[in-house]
Amino acid sequence: MATILSAQCTDARVNMVTPELFRKFPTPAAFAQASLPAIEEEIRSTGFFRNKARSLSGAAKKVVADFGGKVPDSMDQLLTLPGVARKTGNVVLGVAFHKAEGVVVDTHVLRLSQRLGLSQSGDPKRVEEDLMRIIPRDRWISFSHELIHHGRQICVARKPRCIECPLETLCHAADKTWSSH
Ligand code: SF4
Repeated sequence: MATILSAQCTDARVNMVTPELFRKFPTPAAFAQASLPAIEEEIRSTGFFRNKARSLSGAAKKVVADFGGKVPDSMDQLLTLPGVARKTGNVVLGVAFHKAEGVVVDTHVLRLSQRLGLSQSGDPKRVEEDLMRIIPRDRWISFSHELIHHGRQICVARKPRCIECPLETLCHAADKTWSSH
């Protein structure tokens, strides 16, 4: 549910909303029975709240109806849930089930994969395929977390802090703000 809410929204904002949301709706069955306006009210500040409420409600109903009230642990099954595409599926599989079926490609992973020359594509699906070819499978889960952390702390979108970057000698990005080579 939190991963669905994180679309176009900061993790900090999602983390402000989820404690009360999960207090009110503590199980998939509780979400499935809740009215859309009741869910919308709780998640309004995360943006696109009407669409997200529909996804949360639809996903909960499907989890209850098709998967015995438990979030499924395979990509194929996760992708049948409303609001879930590969990124969300990879997050849930990696973080909740410790299963590496793919590589999470969010906005940071997309940007950094291009800057570091790991993929030429701007399409998340193609970038994921490129990363799956390059990164050893036992690093798929940690790699995304590491890249996301790097993208937040150092390789930020507009003015990357190249002078502080431990990857600087490996990086040939055109928009570097400092270069040793
Ligand atoms: S050198 Fe600069 S552009 Fe390259 S990865 Fe580091 S922070 Fe990002």
